[in-house]
Amino acid sequence: MPLTTYRVLEYIDTWAVDVSDSLDKAGVKNEVLVWPRVESVSMKCFDWSRKQYLAPCILSQLHSIFQKFISKGRYVVALGYLDGYDYGLNFVFGEANPSLSIAVVFTKRLDPLTYGLSRDYNLYVERVSKEIVHELGHLLGLGHCSLRECVMSFSNSVPEVDMKTRFFCSKCVGRLKALNI
Ligand code: ZN
Ligand code: ZN
Repeated sequence: MPLTTYRVLEYIDTWAVDVSDSLDKAGVKNEVLVWPRVESVSMKCFDWSRKQYLAPCILSQLHSIFQKFISKGRYVVALGYLDGYDYGLNFVFGEANPSLSIAVVFTKRLDPLTYGLSRDYNLYVERVSKEIVHELGHLLGLGHCSLRECVMSFSNSVPEVDMKTRFFCSKCVGRLKALNI
């Protein structure tokens, strides 16, 4: 579900394929649909002093738009070329609220362009795919995983994102099976 046109719409079909592939490899039956509209984020969620969006504010705004589409086994992951934070944290790459079945991924800090590096399509797309699968894992009921290469490992920096893969480790696959989604 796109929150911005810039650096999101052009890649969103690739992310849909990647996410579905990660879920398939974990044995989770799925259908990934791309929301056909860009939903803009309320400026009420923007902190002008930090120049960042407050993640829980976005999640509750999206909940009011999407609650009629959400049912058991249906989840919404919003993607925006934005910078997000939550209380007590300098920034977050994403945030999930399993009780609302909604998550958001902030892609700006995952883009090499943000750090003055050259454009790298594959790196940006791959990082965002990992964070989408990670937040979706939370929505499905998984917590963080201690295996560095597992998509459910916690990332607090871009190098940590680069260390993980977009796949669930065998332990997390087992946990997903036990959750019986
Ligand atoms: Zn997490
Ligand atoms: Zn794992």
